[in-house]
Amino acid sequence: MPPSILDGRALATTYEYDDAGRLVRSVQEPAWTDRDRALMLALVYYRNTRCPNCGGDPAECGPDSRGKWEVPPPRRCYRTDRLALAQESSKADRPEALSWTVQRRGVANGADSQSEPRAGGRRLSAGR
Ligand SMILES: [Zn+2]
Repeated sequence: MPPSILDGRALATTYEYDDAGRLVRSVQEPAWTDRDRALMLALVYYRNTRCPNCGGDPAECGPDSRGKWEVPPPRRCYRTDRLALAQESSKADRPEALSWTVQRRGVANGADSQSEPRAGGRRLSAGR
């Protein structure tokens, strides 16, 4: 979909009538503007010039960068952790049919904006 449409641009339609007032034809303006095409070309260019592995600047991924990167310790999301533990511990039949939620302790189900049918910003599988 063209970016300008996503931004709310409505497509204008021009109606043409003959001398008797009958509709002869209608012409809708093109959905893709020059700016939309330029934006898409820029996006393609950007994607094509990124490292295919990490999506970063390829100049930072090459041999000159060997030894210049490190991986900090992972951060544990305890909401996701608790959900994963519950799913691993569940002995329910057909676990794929279960919908899981995570909520803060002491908060009634659905009474808190923290209650979400997901954890860690991504939907977790109900399976194990
Ligand atoms: Zn890379």
